[in-house]
Amino acid sequence: MAKKWVYLFDEVAEAESYAGSWDGVRALLGGKGSGLADMTRAGVPVPPGFTVTTEACNQFSASGKFPEGMWAQELAALQEVEKRTGKKFGDPANPLLVSCRSGAKFSMPGMMDTVLNISLTDKTAEGMIELTGNPRFVYDSYRRLIEMFGTVVLGIADEAFEEPLKEYKEKNGYKLDTEMTAEDWKAMVETFKAVVKKEKGFDFPQDPLKQLELATEAVFKSWNGKRAIDYRRATNIPDDLGTAVNIVTMVFGNMGDDSGTGVAFTRNPSTGDKKMMGDYLLNAQGEDVVAGIRNANPIENMVKKMPEVYYQFMDITDKLEQHYKEMQDVEFTIERGKLWMLQTRNGKRTAKAAVKIAVDMADEGLISKEEAVLRVTPDNVDTLLHPQFDEKAKKAAEKAGAFFARGVNASPGAAVGQAYFDANTAEKMAKEKKQAVIMVRPFTKPDDVHGMIASKGVLTSEGGATSHAAVVARQFGIPCVVGASSITIDLEKRVMEVNGKAVKEGEWISVDGTTGEVFIGQIKTIEPKIEEQSELLTILNWADEICARDGMRNAPPKWPTRGLQVWANADYPKDARRARSYGAVGIGLCRTEHMFFETERLPIVQRMILAKTSEERTEALNELLPYQRKDFDGLFEAMEGYPVIIRLIDPPLHEFMPDEEKLFEEVVTLRVKGETEGLKEKEDLLTAIRSMHESNPMMGLRGVRLSIAMPEIVEMQVRAIFEAAADCTLRKIVVKPEVMIPLTGTVKELEWIQPRLVRIAAAVLKEKGIKKLDYKFGTMIEIPRAAVTAAEIAKLAEFFSFGTNDLTQMTFGYSRDDAERNFLVTYVEQKILPKNPFQTLDRDGVGKLMEWAITEGRKTRPELEVGICGEHGGDPESIEWCHIIGNNYVSCSPFRVPIARLAAAHVALKYSGKAIVEDK
Ligand code: ADP
Ligand code: MG
Ligand code: MG
Repeated sequence: MAKKWVYLFDEVAEAESYAGSWDGVRALLGGKGSGLADMTRAGVPVPPGFTVTTEACNQFSASGKFPEGMWAQELAALQEVEKRTGKKFGDPANPLLVSCRSGAKFSMPGMMDTVLNISLTDKTAEGMIELTGNPRFVYDSYRRLIEMFGTVVLGIADEAFEEPLKEYKEKNGYKLDTEMTAEDWKAMVETFKAVVKKEKGFDFPQDPLKQLELATEAVFKSWNGKRAIDYRRATNIPDDLGTAVNIVTMVFGNMGDDSGTGVAFTRNPSTGDKKMMGDYLLNAQGEDVVAGIRNANPIENMVKKMPEVYYQFMDITDKLEQHYKEMQDVEFTIERGKLWMLQTRNGKRTAKAAVKIAVDMADEGLISKEEAVLRVTPDNVDTLLHPQFDEKAKKAAEKAGAFFARGVNASPGAAVGQAYFDANTAEKMAKEKKQAVIMVRPFTKPDDVHGMIASKGVLTSEGGATSHAAVVARQFGIPCVVGASSITIDLEKRVMEVNGKAVKEGEWISVDGTTGEVFIGQIKTIEPKIEEQSELLTILNWADEICARDGMRNAPPKWPTRGLQVWANADYPKDARRARSYGAVGIGLCRTEHMFFETERLPIVQRMILAKTSEERTEALNELLPYQRKDFDGLFEAMEGYPVIIRLIDPPLHEFMPDEEKLFEEVVTLRVKGETEGLKEKEDLLTAIRSMHESNPMMGLRGVRLSIAMPEIVEMQVRAIFEAAADCTLRKIVVKPEVMIPLTGTVKELEWIQPRLVRIAAAVLKEKGIKKLDYKFGTMIEIPRAAVTAAEIAKLAEFFSFGTNDLTQMTFGYSRDDAERNFLVTYVEQKILPKNPFQTLDRDGVGKLMEWAITEGRKTRPELEVGICGEHGGDPESIEWCHIIGNNYVSCSPFRVPIARLAAAHVALKYSGKAIVEDK
């Protein structure tokens, strides 16, 4: 049998058996076509019609002509439609009019716009007037056809039609289209025909079949139009899907006041409320409602005007929702009191609505909890937890001309604040003047971080989504727009400018990290609180429930078989409390060095570093001990009952010292001025700092290496940890400290340091009379050698935590700051790397090392606890990998905990039941 290129709407079963699945039908007939066919099957009133397949489109794209037999099939299908409607295409006595509508598998902008009223000609128009006795309606329909056909199929500019109509109305003193009479529309038909002739050099086709043929061809061609191609590139829609063509019997909403057209969502797409939301217009056609030609009426008004149609409509849409188990976005037309459905599809919605609809539908029993969890995306959660601009306020600002610039939406959320152009000023204004601050820079560097953290938002004129500003902002949950390249920043004059619009330092701006827009002035924001978002909490609780199920992973004995847990990185009790309220069930990384930087402690730390003897050093450390103990006490209390991983000191010591260059300048100034007071101290300090200089500090004396060189520091830290743990235990607070040794490269390092630390822990517990305490000693895996020799390392380490930032740096041999500033953007653009490996784990390299380390480590110690504490712990794709390779948990910034909880559930569902670890 010849290939079938054309399916009538009631041939959906055939399409299904050919395509093999519903997804296949959607690919073959497109979203619109399959929806119309599906509705027809369900007995919903759909005007008869047919779909020319996407396969035909692909053939056309390849050969430049209709595939063999297609046109004949289209004509045959048209005859079937004639039978079903009792009308005849091109017959003036009883003409069949159709629309021609494009429709790919995924609804996408760029495809050809719909042409309505095809087959109207001078002759059929006459016939229709006789038939309907309604010349106004017929001439209105005819001029619409010429206009749509002219612009969409023949490519004439809209204005060529709009201008003469506008002039005509002005001349006659009309405001609205409804004021146009039959005679007026008749005149417009002639005008529009003349427009076609003038623009194209030929007459508007008076052969209905020619109209159909040209329209079909135009749909096919639109698949390879520039707009469509650009859109597919941006959204990764494959080029070989093709678009279908739908030919649908016209139904008329413009036949008088018992007719109309409308669009509706079965639930509110912005709030998710279970209430139909839509608009309709009486005596109107097609896109009049959307185009806002007249003010449309809310759908509920229909109940008074046309109760029967209204109830039928509610019933149909209800059934559609039940059938698709999704919120539907529908189009309909009422022709002389009869309802026709013209389209149904899953409706687009805001993050808020996505969550509410998912929870409601699960509660209604329409979908399972698992399905509800899967329907919410990690991005939805991200959006919901950042402050948002009030949409109305934003629109108003735009209208008032407050738009300033657009850049890359690097970190979501809305921020309003006063602009400052350097980190120190930003921090000062925020801390001392208690101002809301937006830090504005051409780009940021590591020493700008304090300013960023103090700011409500960050704006840069350079860099992309992987720039330093973007990465840091995301880590701290600060709304951020980067690369707003139209902005010129004058750091001297303290002003930024776009096309003559200037913002001086201290002036208010509003930055939308969700969309990348920047406005002048203050736009009202809405601050979301997680505890107030009950539907989101429900989804997250369901996500946790799913992850907690045993058997979500098939694994060797003692490996985790539940899904991932989500822990958080938190240095201070305040962060720990936030992490807990966001659902973290452990602290995966507490960085202790932050505690050394506080103003009253830093001088003691410096004294400790500069100590000449071990006694001097111990003395300084004894002064620090109470501070540290208090820090840990607070953290343990905040995380009562949950494990807390404390990382011993990690950075090189010079980071705690004054800046070398600045100190040198001071020394020089003193010398030049001939002042002696304080000179000697400064000179000594400078010598000491210089002696600490390393050419590559990242790979120098830090982490466990520093602890071996100078064990007193970590000994103090361990003492502080266990004293705090003991004190908490005595206060009946359950604590689970885990001591993490950073930067291990060989087990010998652990053999050197760990027993000393364990002895201290034991001694403290004994001193305090604590018999039982749940604690562990373990290490960070961040040096490739540690990963490779994991079996050895696990002899001592009771847990591994992947420090994937350093592990990525050292596996690739990149220094992150340099890489992100200098070449990563190019690498990603040139497809040398698929993504920034500092944001999304490189599975093939770094990921393989992790997998190896876990497998080897658990050969030595099957119950080895494994986590990840790099920024990757909050990235859904990286979380997926952690699930696959057998992590117990992921740990991320408190702000990303809810996102990680959802992502963990998604991956657990995706892989549940499947063997994820081969028996090794
Ligand atoms: P889009 O993909 O842009 O939604 P559509 O093909 O759905 O385009 O059509 C545009 C407008 O024309 C919609 O309002 C639709 O309801 C209306 N329309 C399409 N076909 C017909 C028809 N056969 N009869 C009446 N109205 C139609
Ligand atoms: Mg459209
Ligand atoms: Mg539509």
